[in-house]
Amino acid sequence: MNPKVLVADPIDVSAVEILKKAGFDVDLRPGIGANELESVVSGYDVLVVRGRTKVTSKVLERGVPRLKVVGRAGVGLDNIDLDAASKLGVKVLNTPESSTNSVAELVVGLMLAVARKIAWSDRVMRAGKWPKGEAMGVELSGKTLGVVGFGRIGRKVAEVAYAMGMKIIAYDVIKIPEDVLAKTQAKLTSLEDLLRSADVVTLHVPLTPETRHLINAEKIALMKPSAILVNASRGEVVDEQALVEALSSGRLAGAGLDVYEREPPTGSKLLELDNVVLTPHIGAQTVEAQEAAATMLASKIVEVFTTSRP
Ligand code: NAD
Repeated sequence: MNPKVLVADPIDVSAVEILKKAGFDVDLRPGIGANELESVVSGYDVLVVRGRTKVTSKVLERGVPRLKVVGRAGVGLDNIDLDAASKLGVKVLNTPESSTNSVAELVVGLMLAVARKIAWSDRVMRAGKWPKGEAMGVELSGKTLGVVGFGRIGRKVAEVAYAMGMKIIAYDVIKIPEDVLAKTQAKLTSLEDLLRSADVVTLHVPLTPETRHLINAEKIALMKPSAILVNASRGEVVDEQALVEALSSGRLAGAGLDVYEREPPTGSKLLELDNVVLTPHIGAQTVEAQEAAATMLASKIVEVFTTSRP
């Protein structure tokens, strides 16, 4: 009998093609409700989701013994009960590599949008004005970029920024190989020194108990008043209240944000500030990243079933 896959969220068609070609039977049920999922999941070997479907302990308990793999097309596993999956022996797969380029490009876009007041100029022009004088910006070339978390995305951002003439300094908790640093002539520093000397600080750490509010009022106080903070990692890495205060008081020049402590950030003071550029958590929201997430996930699923039929 062919292994059966339930696709519970919208996913790029490339994944379905790969799975079918490899002999899987695929049922497409994007948008399936929680109750329906609980009642049908026991008939599948693989459950494929994105961020919408909640893979709770109940779903997993109903799914076993047949359910062997839960695949998340993308990075975040917040919607999957990982403890329950591990207890029940259900393998969880994701594709953290799929969005690196897309997130890095968005980060560079945010840096430029803040430094050159692009979003603000657009807003003001649409209101019928010509704010040339007030739209005075700063160049990024020659400035220092501080990368907090020198992993996949942090390194890619560094590469693009280096090509624009920025100097790179980086902070990480793991040892970064010399050849990786050499690519962008990056210098490793402490977090405090990075915050003191960077003109743009960009955050690329995972959300962990250690990184929650890593950037708080105390840390912002170390930054140059002319500095720009960019966050496309996770909202809770920044104490948003402290950030709002720093941006409102002129303690910090600007910020570019893709992620928020609460999403959407309805009612947040951030929405009222002119020196902030906001995007709605779209780091991985590109045709290429979605296709990469789907193909990478499908290939990983096929590999699991061919190397060690679970
Ligand atoms: P990665 O694992 O490749 O890199 C993370 C780096 O952070 C690692 O080098 C790690 O050692 C370092 N790190 C961990 N804890 C640290 C700490 N306390 N201080 C300093 N460094 C620390 O991850 P990645 O693929 O580069 O992703 C980075 C972040 O981007 C994650 O938070 C991820 O959730 C987020 N992300 C956001 C979007 C989006 O849509 N905006 C999309 C994908 C990923």
